[in-house]
Amino acid sequence: MENIKWEELGFGYIRTDYNIRSTWKDGKWSEPRLCTDENVTIHMASTALHYGQTAFEGAKAFMGADGKVRLFRIEENARRMQSSAEYLMMAVPPIELFVKMTEEVVRANARFIPPYGSGASLYIRPFLFGSGANVGVKPAEQYEFIIFVTPVGPYFKAGFQPIQAIIDRDHDRAAPLGTGHIKAGGNYGASLLSGDICHRKGYQSAIYLDAAHKQYIDEAGAANFFGIKNNTYVTPKSHSVLPSITNMSLRDLAADLGLNVEERLVDYRELAEFEEAGACGTAAVISPIGEVYDPQDDRHYIFGDGKSAGPVSTKLYNLLRGIQLGDEPDTHGWVTFVEL
Ligand SMILES: *Cc1c(COP(=O)(O)O)cnc(C)c1O
Repeated sequence: MENIKWEELGFGYIRTDYNIRSTWKDGKWSEPRLCTDENVTIHMASTALHYGQTAFEGAKAFMGADGKVRLFRIEENARRMQSSAEYLMMAVPPIELFVKMTEEVVRANARFIPPYGSGASLYIRPFLFGSGANVGVKPAEQYEFIIFVTPVGPYFKAGFQPIQAIIDRDHDRAAPLGTGHIKAGGNYGASLLSGDICHRKGYQSAIYLDAAHKQYIDEAGAANFFGIKNNTYVTPKSHSVLPSITNMSLRDLAADLGLNVEERLVDYRELAEFEEAGACGTAAVISPIGEVYDPQDDRHYIFGDGKSAGPVSTKLYNLLRGIQLGDEPDTHGWVTFVEL
């Protein structure tokens, strides 16, 4: 096993042995090839560089106490990449190709899978982009589909500890990160300034409201938002929210726990009524939100004591992590094993 201090890992890039690549050309995907080169060479007129023909995914592989390696709902990542590709008129990678390449690149980098109990996991980053040259605004005629992996620790330094968030109404070009349900680079580029402002003010995450009314909660930066009140899991419904696989899973797990589940408009003033709030995503898992500051109304919304995770968020977190690591039964059939 690699000589890495697994417990101290943050969410950064560490070089691993291989990435895996397939090229779409003349109407078909090439046989995937494992590659040791971290660089890609593309044409300067590629549509990825000029017109944002690019999308990505994020997933994780987990080492269980039983020594088995698990992927969590990987076919959902494949499906979402397909919808991103269709929306941006890119070649669409078949689900089988996506899953096969994921398994192969995880296997090839097995020595980088963090051990059970370290709290870390192997992050999987598939991405797709137009590599063919075009000056006119037209889809490319060639595409690269690449997956790399890198071991990661918690996305927020605090781990499973409440973060502080701030409502950002002023950078709404950053708001619709999930617009059209594409998980795409261009949307993220527009969120960097908002993220920087929020960090400089001492907050870990921005919360975006709907661009039209500035009234309804969309997302918490690169993670979905949920609130808990009256035994109900509430999460925003909006076309500008990227459909998070974690959120989708938490809705099922909340129902399993006997909670009501509501996907609907969430007025930001409803923050005052939530007993707990959280940000959820593959990278964030569940990050409890201790406090949301609204600079417009100069109002602090505090959840619980603001310093510790609430009971429902804790139960959901333990269940989700438990399934991912193999400590809890996979009753929904969400896990795929990778044979090493
Ligand atoms: C990836 C992503 C999420 C989280 O989705 P998961 O499938 O749970 O990882 C949430 N919001 C945005 C904008 C994202 O890009």
